[in-house]
Amino acid sequence: YEPKTMSSAKKATSGKQQGDNKQQHDVCSLPNCGQDAAGQGSHWDGPLCAAHLKRDADRFRESYYSYRQANIDGAMRRVAEQMDLTRGALFELTSDRANASDMFEEILEIVQRCRSTVIGRLDAKIDSMDASLKSLHFFEKLRADINGTEMSGDLVKSFQLSKKMQLALEDAPISDAWTDPVDSSVELVQKLLQETKTRAAIAEDADGAAMRSLLESAVPTANVLLTNYIQFVFNCNRTDGFFYSAQLVSKTQQNGFQALPSSCVLAVGNYGANWHIAFYSNELVVLSQRNQPSNNVVLVSAALVNHQQQIYMLGNNNSLIVTDLAGTQLRTIDNVQFQAEMPIIVNDMEKLYILGDGCINCLSLDTCELQDSMKLSKDTANVRHMTVSGRSLILATQSAVYRMSLSTKRCVKVWQSNSQNVLCVADIGSGFLAACENNGSVALLSSNRQLIKVIDLVPLGVNYLKTCANCGVSYVLQSISCCGASRESSSSFLLICSLSCNDRVLVRVSIC
Ligand SMILES: [Zn+2]
Ligand SMILES: [Zn+2]
Repeated sequence: YEPKTMSSAKKATSGKQQGDNKQQHDVCSLPNCGQDAAGQGSHWDGPLCAAHLKRDADRFRESYYSYRQANIDGAMRRVAEQMDLTRGALFELTSDRANASDMFEEILEIVQRCRSTVIGRLDAKIDSMDASLKSLHFFEKLRADINGTEMSGDLVKSFQLSKKMQLALEDAPISDAWTDPVDSSVELVQKLLQETKTRAAIAEDADGAAMRSLLESAVPTANVLLTNYIQFVFNCNRTDGFFYSAQLVSKTQQNGFQALPSSCVLAVGNYGANWHIAFYSNELVVLSQRNQPSNNVVLVSAALVNHQQQIYMLGNNNSLIVTDLAGTQLRTIDNVQFQAEMPIIVNDMEKLYILGDGCINCLSLDTCELQDSMKLSKDTANVRHMTVSGRSLILATQSAVYRMSLSTKRCVKVWQSNSQNVLCVADIGSGFLAACENNGSVALLSSNRQLIKVIDLVPLGVNYLKTCANCGVSYVLQSISCCGASRESSSSFLLICSLSCNDRVLVRVSIC
């Protein structure tokens, strides 16, 4: 009685059964047993005594489970995995659909309101011109009457009519300099129409062909600012409720304060015994800057969580200090682990992702608790930079760019550079990426792993990339810490370039 596979056992016992055909039914069919049969075997196809029946049942259980393991379990694990992924994707798509639907409602409301404002403004101007024309008609008519009375020689009547005209002229809507009721509405609406068409085409086009052709034909521009105080920069696009003066940002609108522009640049850095915190316009004109005591905590990294309007600053004492845009400290989380060489911290709507040693730690934005730790593979072990793009993390090593799905944790190579000089990568919208190399070239990549074009930053007016404007030294671009575009904005990204002369420049590149 040797363990056999289900099928071979079946065949063997069938053969045995045939051979033992003449054996009586009430006796155990195993050779050398002869006990009374207690039932039919499951594994052994024949009558068995009670003891052999129990052994047969054990064997049958054993071989059933090994059969299941070999033929069913693996497949079921894949089914379960697929179900998890499908459920996750279904959940995400359902919430995407709800968000998209809400945003369409908002777009329609905005367009409706804009339409009634613009058409109303034009109507008011039309009415005013109509009224002017009517009163001017009155004078024209009077002038014709005067002509008539003059022709008929009735100068007394002409004089009376002229007096009437003189009086009326005092209140008439005529001035020496006629002012043109200039209205730029139609150009503005035309621009809106054009933008809407372009953006709608991009939104409708899942393959990114519209965005791709936009990027292909785009003429990039760059703003450059020499600044040695800042190290980390962010595209700030949720500023409602915050006001600024030259030295302060506040949640209350005090005298001399004005609202932060809806899109601007936030920069932070270490400056002596202080943290330097500055807001710039998108043209890199300083709006507000201040120093606040660092209490001996050196900032090693930072993230701006736009939808929370909060800044997460990572200190060299392993603390994560959370403030609002005004710098009011909201929370401090201790014992945060990060990779000492490349302390990178990025976020999406739900989580913070902090590069650790050989892994990426995921912290809940709500609770700041560690929720997950994603292992880095051999390929991505030497991550230099990372950013969030959709539901993926984009990882840049010195020679390649990878996309790691946050739901499946699977990692695919997006781009292989010919150089060993990749410094950072930015999401420029719709899944398109900009990979920056330390010679100042920026590769634009599509979401389906194609190189669209390479932009050279130097001819864009990024002159600092040749000779430092501060010290005049010709330098080598040493590193770029790129904070990229946040998910909400598109087609622009920020770079901080460290120069070999120890000066730093902030660059904002607008692709289209
Ligand atoms: Zn037996
Ligand atoms: Zn310099």
